[in-house]
Amino acid sequence: MDRRELVAGIPGAQARQNGQNAAQTYSETIVSRSPAGGDVLGQVRIATSQQIGQAMEEARLGQAAWARLSIAQRLLFVRTLRDALYRQRERITRVLIAEQGKVYEEAQVEFLATIEQVDFYLRRAAAILAPEQVSERLLPHRKLWVAHRPYGVVLVIAPWNYPLYLSTIPVVTALLAGNSVLYKPSEYATQIGELLAMAIAEAGFPPEIFHILHGYGPTGAALVEAGPDRIFFTGSVPTGKRIAHAAAEKLIPVTLELGGKDAAIVLADADITRAATGVVWSAMFNAGQTCGSVERVLVDRRIADRFVAAMQKVIERQVLNGDGSPRRELAAVTTPAQIEIIDSQVKDALAQGARAVTGGHRLDRAGGRYYAPTILVDVTPGMRVFQEETFGPVVAVLPFDTLDEAVTLNNATEFGLIASIWTRDERAALRLTPRLKVGNVAINAHLEATGLTSTPWGGIKASGYGRSHGPDGLLEMTYSQTINADRFGFLHEPFWYPYTPVKRSFFSRLIHLLYGPTWRDRLKALF
Ligand code: NAD
Repeated sequence: MDRRELVAGIPGAQARQNGQNAAQTYSETIVSRSPAGGDVLGQVRIATSQQIGQAMEEARLGQAAWARLSIAQRLLFVRTLRDALYRQRERITRVLIAEQGKVYEEAQVEFLATIEQVDFYLRRAAAILAPEQVSERLLPHRKLWVAHRPYGVVLVIAPWNYPLYLSTIPVVTALLAGNSVLYKPSEYATQIGELLAMAIAEAGFPPEIFHILHGYGPTGAALVEAGPDRIFFTGSVPTGKRIAHAAAEKLIPVTLELGGKDAAIVLADADITRAATGVVWSAMFNAGQTCGSVERVLVDRRIADRFVAAMQKVIERQVLNGDGSPRRELAAVTTPAQIEIIDSQVKDALAQGARAVTGGHRLDRAGGRYYAPTILVDVTPGMRVFQEETFGPVVAVLPFDTLDEAVTLNNATEFGLIASIWTRDERAALRLTPRLKVGNVAINAHLEATGLTSTPWGGIKASGYGRSHGPDGLLEMTYSQTINADRFGFLHEPFWYPYTPVKRSFFSRLIHLLYGPTWRDRLKALF
């Protein structure tokens, strides 16, 4: 059976495949502009409330039939989607560069991480979603298993910083699990959103089960209000709180992938050159616009000056030219609001006594929005640049004297996404890991943690809750349904009426046998 036959039973799928769309009325548009030069890249229409209602209705109708397909059948569509993404790789990379201001290699890395995560699920989804057999000590005569059921309609709201990666993963996991999807890309990533929607259409998914709806915050809020069965949100803490609040009113389960204020903890025995190179890359990649980028450097006071000098050298050699102008390795700052946040945090720190060893100002390059790679020293924990997400190419350095102090400083913000430990002593690093209040720890690396496909990704505290990536990320799109059934065809169950003296004696013997703290207590089961 090919994919066309599979969707034949889904209401409206054929009509949509033949190009008969329902009448649509639009209000305003969103114009996409390049942050690295201001060129207009395209425009999309903002979804009306009528379209949101209609998309929800169609998504509900289509989901039931989609969920009835086997996982092997749904995987056929996802395999075709992977192939469509592969064919579109150059176009997608070009749009990531144009719309987000990324540099070529970093756009490629986003594409690579995305397609690898899709491929991981192609290989593993059937096993992850298979019902699990379990046994129950008190009911050995009954068969038990746990099935993973789709919620229904999943709302995916995505941010702008990795618009392909952070949209494709929740969309694909939701669909694989048997849900339909309403997808709202960021207003700063509409063109990438459209490319993903085109790839999904090209892969032949029934149109009812995937809807792209553009808009700003109010459109996101209206989509939440429309009552999806689950929400997967990636974005800022304030928006995450708003969504969690609105969802709580309707008791809609929510996954929140929010911000970070990650620290690199550099111990005295670290390989300084390697650590400085890794920390600078993890801080400056995508101009620091990564939830898991290094924003704070906690460094042993004994090597602090040497380490700062080493980081400065890496910036001067690998991110800047000899005359201080940025090399092509430095990405643009994607949104106008973001560069204001970066600049105001740096200015605030400088006004309070911090010092910029390098950078500390905007960099205008060919009309684009750029910020100079910045190292701030003489930072104090009370400063905004130490506490608030900067989301720019800026690191705040703070020396520590003891490991206890390093742990306290690491945990001293509202966030808890990644921490990295840089040392030659892996065992010392491992001893620190349980004390760090973060969802991910990397040893002698940092940013790579954001792209791991087979392990859970997510944070704690204000970095959010729920998980993406790996088996957890797929199961996040399902609820567990426990099923128990008769194993031997008994006519009667031991717990049913009537309550006879034999039954009473049996229960008390069982309690002695299973839970008696001593052998003497357990022996009571015999008498
Ligand atoms: P944002 O919160 O401004 O917007 C995210 C999305 O939410 C956008 O699509 C936006 O239109 C929508 N939105 C805004 N208001 C809404 C509302 N009231 N109801 C529903 N939707 C609404 O975030 P952003 O600036 O696009 O993204 C950057 C943030 O995302 C940073 O804080 C970053 O740390 C975080 N992030 C987290 C992760 C992670 O995995 N933890 C990954 C990437 C980015």
